[in-house]
Amino acid sequence: MFRTPATSAGAAHATAQAASVPRICVFLGSSFGNGDEYLRLTEECARAIVHAGYGIVYGGGRIGLMGALADAALAAGGEVIGVIPESLQRREVAHQGLSDLHIVAGMHERKALMASLSDAFVTLPGGIGTLDEFFDILSWSILGLHAKPIGLLNYLGFFDPLLAQLDHMVAEGFIKPELRELLISATTVRELLAATSSNR
Ligand code: AMP
Repeated sequence: MFRTPATSAGAAHATAQAASVPRICVFLGSSFGNGDEYLRLTEECARAIVHAGYGIVYGGGRIGLMGALADAALAAGGEVIGVIPESLQRREVAHQGLSDLHIVAGMHERKALMASLSDAFVTLPGGIGTLDEFFDILSWSILGLHAKPIGLLNYLGFFDPLLAQLDHMVAEGFIKPELRELLISATTVRELLAATSSNR
C-alpha cells in the first residue's frame, strides 16, 4: 500500500496526509484530445480510483479531461479535491460540485498544495500543463523531496516518445538508472493502480 507519512516526504506533507483516505493526485489535460478514447480512459480511471478506495486531487477545473475526471469520480461516490489558482477560476471553469475546492494564489501554490494533499501521483494524457506538473513531481522525487509513488498511464502508447526520451537521457548519462526507476509506467488503469499503490 501507500507509504505512511512517516516514511514519505517531509513534515509539511505528513500533516496534510493525516487522518484521511489515501489520495491520488491526477495530472491530465484541460482538453479532450482527439477522439473519444481519452474521455473513456479518464472516466474509467476515475471510477477505478474511487472503487479502490482512494480520493482524488486534481486541478479543480470543469474543462476537458479534468472536468470529466471529477464528474466521473463524484458520480461514483468518490472524494474529489480541486486546487485552482484564483486567476484560472474563470478560464478553467472552477468546478463548484467538488468535495472541496481550494482557491490558491498562483501556479506554484497549486502544485505545492496538490502535492501535499496527495499520497501518490498519476499522469494521464494531456498537454504542456500536464507535463509541467508531471516533471515537477518527478524531479522533486529524484531530489529526495518526497518519496511518493509516481505513475504514468501510457495508454495506447501516448507516452512512448516521452519514455524513449527518458531512456535516451539514461543512456547518455544524464539520469541515473535507479532514478529512472522511480517512474512507474503501465498501459492499463488497473495495472497502474496496482503498481502505484504497492511499495517500490
Ligand atoms: P494542459 O495539459 O496544458 O491541458 O494543462 C493541464 C492543467 O495543467 C491545467 O489545469 C493547467 O492550468 C495546468 N498547468 C498549466 N501550466 C502549469 C504550470 N506551469 N504549473 C502547474 N500547472 C500548470
